[in-house]
Amino acid sequence: MVELLRGLGASAGTATAPAYRLADPPRLPLPRPVSDPDGELDRAYAAIDGVCADIGRRAAAADSPTTAEILRVQAALAGDRTLRDGVAVAIRAGHDAPHAVAAVLGEHRSALLAAGGLLAARAADLDDLRDRVVARCLGLPMPALPEPGCPYVLIAVDLSPADAALLDSARVLAVVTSAGSFLSHTAILARARGLPTVVACGGALDIADGTMLTVDGTAGRVTVGPARARPADRPPIRPAEPVDLRGQTADGHPLALLANIGCAAELAGVAVEGVGLFRTELLFQHHVDAPTMLEQVEAYADVFAAMPDRQVVVRTLDAGSDKPLPFLRESDEPNPALGIRGLRVARRRQDILQTQIAAIAAAARGSTARVAVMAPMVTTVAEAAQFTALCRDAGLPTVGVMIEVPAAAVRSVEILQVVDFLSVGTNDLSQYAFAADRRSGELADLLDPWQPALLSLIALSAAAGVAVGRPVGVCGEAAADPAFAVVLAGMGVTSLSMAPPAIPEVRAALAALTLDECRSVAQRVLAAGDPTAARAAAGM
Ligand code: PEP
Ligand code: MG
Repeated sequence: MVELLRGLGASAGTATAPAYRLADPPRLPLPRPVSDPDGELDRAYAAIDGVCADIGRRAAAADSPTTAEILRVQAALAGDRTLRDGVAVAIRAGHDAPHAVAAVLGEHRSALLAAGGLLAARAADLDDLRDRVVARCLGLPMPALPEPGCPYVLIAVDLSPADAALLDSARVLAVVTSAGSFLSHTAILARARGLPTVVACGGALDIADGTMLTVDGTAGRVTVGPARARPADRPPIRPAEPVDLRGQTADGHPLALLANIGCAAELAGVAVEGVGLFRTELLFQHHVDAPTMLEQVEAYADVFAAMPDRQVVVRTLDAGSDKPLPFLRESDEPNPALGIRGLRVARRRQDILQTQIAAIAAAARGSTARVAVMAPMVTTVAEAAQFTALCRDAGLPTVGVMIEVPAAAVRSVEILQVVDFLSVGTNDLSQYAFAADRRSGELADLLDPWQPALLSLIALSAAAGVAVGRPVGVCGEAAADPAFAVVLAGMGVTSLSMAPPAIPEVRAALAALTLDECRSVAQRVLAAGDPTAARAAAGM
């Protein structure tokens, strides 16, 4: 019998293989009385040092800069003085080494969870640290990745950076976790590796080893049981080797297919038309102090150098809420998702935005990349106009804004009078249109991009672009779904930006239909009453 599990699509793509679960880490035993506190402290410190060294080794051997950076931060957490001091206090108070470590890391974890957003998503890293140190205190090994002797889908509660660093994509074809979020390290590392991944998938842990699964990391679906055959009238789309990187419909209507990236290293070995979303905040997510002008110029210049003569859309820092930056913490907010985030940070820290714009302009001057800049979380025409003025004053000629707030979507025509282009961020547009936290697995049905209200908002922006004659792109995760891409093309969207591994399938889907056929699909989808009917109207 085929069963369908839903979660959050964290990394696009599909894969079918048997499932194997990562074993649980050693459990914390019952507490022991401590007769020799000094010896107990030595034991705890030796375990912490061992874990630090182990994670440091994995960082040095990591095959991607994203993985190395994440592991270095985890090693720094393990080596942090406050951990050792806290453990010493707990042992002097009578706890044994494993319980002292678990208690101190438990407090750190609660603080991260209370901070919310990106910091809360790091709580899993502390859980992993606790498990590793506790295992060493007990002299037990941490569970290794399964070795079933065939390629498989890895099932886990969540993946630590240290586990994720060891994933060999020839053996692990996809990942499904019961916990995690779009921002967890499992998701970040899976996206960097192009590994189809579904997180926050209820029921994942009930899947028995060896069960055949089809993981759809784009739609956030896991099909348990034999893979479903595709309808006979809808042959699978097989991306052919492109002779030309450009996206276009069967009748040659161009639609740029661009990459979403967080740093230059993500472009290594990637052939793309350009970058449609450079999430600059990811470069600085672990910085305690604001990045300097020079630091920023270097980071942006690296990306521009990788895209000679091609388009690069740099998004200014999207800090706050789910992406807090340590140097821009807004601690006085009862509801951060509705507070000072994205462009709104400039209300308090105009200097940070100005330095960033100056750094982008300086890096652009030394490169042949076609640099455009855009602001996140824009709500009104006035905000868009102010941002444009700032960028133009700095010598940046191409300026756009993201459409992530419904108030901006409904005023797309007016906003397009003061900017050169729009880029629709479907992730946040869903969150704000449906009043549903984008990381919530429980509200996944509301966050479904095929929801009619979301489709209507995107269509408003796309139609505004057609009416005014200016480009409107989509850079949210929905753009990576080939069937959704066809609908967007039919609405009049001019570019799609996504994680690079998703591009070939989207290119193939667009190349299979003429623009008029895409328009008919879009009309049918926009007339549908719910996500199921919308998918059916798109032939899914
Ligand atoms: C979005 O909100 O759709 C988007 C692309 O931005 P981010 O996911 O970085 O918030
Ligand atoms: Mg966003």
